Amino acid sequence: MKAIVIHMAKDLRIEELETEKPGPGEVEIRLAAGGICGSDLHYYNHGGFGTVRLKEPMILGHEVSGHVAALGEGVSDLAIGDLVAVSPSRPCGACDYCLKGLPNHCFHMRFYGSAMPFPHIQGAFRERLVAKASQCVKAEGLSAGEAAMAEPLSVTLHATRRAGEMLGKRVLVTGCGPIGTLSILAARRAGAAEIVAADLSERALGFARAVGADRTVNLSDRDGLVPFSENKGTFDVLYECSGAQPALVAGIQALRPRGVIVQLGLGGDMALPMMAITAKELDLRGSFRFHEEFATAVKLMQGGLIDVKPLITHTLPLGEALKAFEIASDKGQSMKTQIAFA
Ligand SMILES: [Zn+2]
Ligand SMILES: [Zn+2]
Repeated sequence: MKAIVIHMAKDLRIEELETEKPGPGEVEIRLAAGGICGSDLHYYNHGGFGTVRLKEPMILGHEVSGHVAALGEGVSDLAIGDLVAVSPSRPCGACDYCLKGLPNHCFHMRFYGSAMPFPHIQGAFRERLVAKASQCVKAEGLSAGEAAMAEPLSVTLHATRRAGEMLGKRVLVTGCGPIGTLSILAARRAGAAEIVAADLSERALGFARAVGADRTVNLSDRDGLVPFSENKGTFDVLYECSGAQPALVAGIQALRPRGVIVQLGLGGDMALPMMAITAKELDLRGSFRFHEEFATAVKLMQGGLIDVKPLITHTLPLGEALKAFEIASDKGQSMKTQIAFA
């Protein structure tokens, strides 16, 4: 089988690897679709991010779907041919955080395609993937591409939980890439009354409107959010998806007292307007990965309650993986680029 392997920045290869056999409780999946994520792009363009660096070749990818091709012993809830979304979240189930019900904080997390631990955790961009049946969520009724969107959608469902009450709230989303636009869909589904989306790119804002943002603000106008900052601010919740300090600062000015900041964007450490956070009694909350939200993401798409299709802009065959990574790296072209494995 072929797999997409990163050796170092800009050294991406399609390599031939041995196929594995599914053990007890596992299934073999014939991969169908794989979405390229920001973290894959960091490995591809820079060989890592922050202190996380590639130290050995690693298969990329963690946003995948496929068809069940073989069943290991004892697997009864899946059948050969089923389309499944495969969760990359593989907590150990036994550490303190797993036992506290916080599996996304597992000490021994084996999240696909991550160079955080060494040896690196190999990813899922391979023609055949052996996974635990418990990672697989049946996705009948969805396209393979939609099923592969369950992962980034889960990230934003988890963030929505971190935000707390959403019904009737006024929401600001800064940064309208895949996570920002999916946050708009998640916030709306959770009952947000008004959603304003902000970005530097008019093209990104077009996607924000397409998925239901009520208003958009182009932040290349530095004062774009000033009208929302009057009377101590307008918004109850900020989804900060850009990782850019100017967006966070402008968003904080536009939050009401007791507003909630959910930080999703990872752009490195930054200085914060601590005076405003303190005086407006704002809550600053991180959000990282997900776990049980994965199955919810599939169900919301299956029920037609969230439509991610407008965000899938490019689908390229495995043989054009390199081109797919180049397109995905170009925000002027791509929202979500996926690789078709079959
Ligand atoms: Zn991702
Ligand atoms: Zn654990």
